[in-house]
Amino acid sequence: MTAWGTFFCFLLLWVGSPSAHALQAVVDVKPQIVELTDFPIEYFIDPSQSLDYEAVRRQSFETTTSTTSLGTQAPVTWYRVALHNPGTAVRRLFLHLPKAYHVRSVSVFEERNGKLIDQASVNLDEASDHPLIYQGKVVYPFTIPAEETTFLYVRSNAYTHQWFSLKIYGDEQSRRALAGGQLDIALLVGMMLALVFYNGLLYFATSKKENIFYSLYLISGLVWIALSYGLIASAFNAYGDAVFVLNLSLIAMPIFLTLFMMAIFETRKFYRTEHRVLQGMLALLVATFLYGLFDIAAALKPASSLAALMMVVTLSVSISLFRKGNPLVKFFLVGHTFFVIFNGLAVAYYKGLVEPSYINSHGVGIGIVLEALTLAFIISYRIKVLEDIRSRQGELKRQAATDPLTRLYNRRHFMVEGEYMVEQARAAGRPLSVIAVDIDHFKAVNDTHGHGVGDRVLTNVADIFRQFSRDQDLVARFGGEEFVVLLPGADHAEAYGCAERIRKAVEAHTLEGDGGVPIRVTVSLGLTEVNGVAESLENAVHRADKALYEAKTSGRNRVCFSGGAGG
Ligand code: GH3
Ligand code: MG
Ligand code: MG
Repeated sequence: MTAWGTFFCFLLLWVGSPSAHALQAVVDVKPQIVELTDFPIEYFIDPSQSLDYEAVRRQSFETTTSTTSLGTQAPVTWYRVALHNPGTAVRRLFLHLPKAYHVRSVSVFEERNGKLIDQASVNLDEASDHPLIYQGKVVYPFTIPAEETTFLYVRSNAYTHQWFSLKIYGDEQSRRALAGGQLDIALLVGMMLALVFYNGLLYFATSKKENIFYSLYLISGLVWIALSYGLIASAFNAYGDAVFVLNLSLIAMPIFLTLFMMAIFETRKFYRTEHRVLQGMLALLVATFLYGLFDIAAALKPASSLAALMMVVTLSVSISLFRKGNPLVKFFLVGHTFFVIFNGLAVAYYKGLVEPSYINSHGVGIGIVLEALTLAFIISYRIKVLEDIRSRQGELKRQAATDPLTRLYNRRHFMVEGEYMVEQARAAGRPLSVIAVDIDHFKAVNDTHGHGVGDRVLTNVADIFRQFSRDQDLVARFGGEEFVVLLPGADHAEAYGCAERIRKAVEAHTLEGDGGVPIRVTVSLGLTEVNGVAESLENAVHRADKALYEAKTSGRNRVCFSGGAGG
C-alpha cells in the first residue's frame, strides 16, 4: 500500500466510511465476466473473535487475493469483497466458498449503499442440511443492480489454519463448479487404496511388520487427503467437530513412518544411535497424538513445526544410515526428498508464507503419494534381498548336507535324517531296511586308470543308486567307495530285491576310461532290517556293515543279509 493509500485509509477510517475505503479493492463485474476466481479482496483479523458486522465494517482492512492462507494466527477473520456492476442490467451472481468444510462457521453479510440488506450464517457443526451448504461448499446467491456496488463481508471462523478461498460465478458457471468432481484427489486416494490392498497381500506372504506400518501410514495419509481436500465432506456430507477430529491422521502419519523406518532398517539391531533418535521423535509424536484425542485443534497448532522437525530428523537419520552403507536407505532418501519438498511447499502455504498454487495447496497429497510409491519399491527390494539371503542359506544347507563329488547325502545328514525316518517308521509300525554297499577292488581301479577315472566310477555308481532307489529312500556316501541306503517301508524281501537290482545294474554298467578302455566294476552289499522295538540307526548300519563284510569274504559282487539285532 502506498503512503498516499495509507493516508487515505486513515482519513476514511477517521471519517468512518469503510465502504468508501473499500473502493480500492472494488472489482468490476462487466457483463461478459461470468467467473471470478482470482481477484483482490481485503481481510481483517479479529483477535477478540467477538466483533459483529457493525463493528467490523469500521475497521481497517488489509488487501489480499481471493485465495489466501493466513496461518494459525487468524482463527476469526473477516473478508470483504466489493463488486461493482458497470452494466445496465441487474446481475445475479453466486459467492462460492469451496473450502468451507474445514471451518467451524461462516457468515455472509451483504451490504449496499452502507446498508445491510441480507445475511446468512452457517455453523458447519450442524450444517448437513443447511440450504447454503452443498457438499461442504458454501454457496451464497446475491444480486447487484445496474451501476451499483455490493459489498460482501464474510466472517470465517477456522479451527486452526485460516485457509480461505472465494469465487464468484454466474448462474450456469456456479452449477458447473458444483458438479465438477475432484478427479485428481480421487485418483490419489484410489492409488493409495490400491497400495494398501497390495501391501496387505504382501503381509500375508511375508509376515513382516513393516508392511503393517506401511499400510497404516498409507491409511492415515488417505484419511487426511480425503479430509483436507473435501472428499469426506462431499462424499458423506459431514463437517464440523465430528469430522475435524480425523485430523489426528496428520499426526498418525509420521508415527507410522517412524515405525516403518525402524522396522525396515532394523535400527534396533544395527543402528543404536539412530534408533534412539527415532524413539525420541516417536515419543513426541505419540504425546501430540494423545493430546489431540482431547483437543485436536490445539494439538494441530504446532503441527507444521512438528512436521518440519520430523523432516529434519528423518532426513538426518537416513543420511546417517546412508553413510553407514545401508543398501535400502538411498531409495528411502529419494522418496523422502519428494515428501520433504512438496510438504515444505505445503507447510509454507499453510503458514501463509508463499502464494497459493495448485502444487502448494496439494503439496501434502502429492508428497505422500510420491513417497508412498517409493516406499512400495523399497518393500519389494527388501523382499528380494531377503529372498536372496534365503536361497543362499538354502544353498549352504544343501552344501553342508551333501558330498560334492557324487552329490549324494553325506554321513552326517544321513544319520540325522535317517534317525527321524526310523522314528516315523516305528510310530507307524512299518518296516525299514538298511543296505551298505562297497565297490569291489576299487583300489585297483585307481591304481590302473588313475584317480580321475576312479572319481568318474564313483559318480557313475552314485547315479545308478539314484536311478534304482525309490523317491523316499535315503542314499548317502559314507566315505571313500562306501555307500548306505535307507529304505523306509521296505521289509527284508523288498530290500533284497532292491539290493539285487543295484548289484546287477552296476555289474552291467560299462564306463569308458581314457582312450576308450572299457571299465567295469562290481559292488558287494550287506542288508538288514531295523529292529522294530528300540534299535538305533547306528546299530542297524553296523549290522549291515557286518553283512557287507560277509559278502566281501564270500566272494564279492553279492548281497548278504544279517538278521535282527544281534542276529
Ligand atoms: P575291497 O573290494 O576289499 O573293498 O577292496 P578295495 O580296493 O575297494 O578297498 P580299499 O579300502 O583297500 O580301497 C579303497 C580305495 O578307494 C582306496 C582309496 O584310494 C580309494 N578312494 C577313496 N575315496 C576316493 C575318492 O574320492 N576318489 C577316488 N578316485 N578314490 C577314492
Ligand atoms: Mg572297496
Ligand atoms: Mg572300502
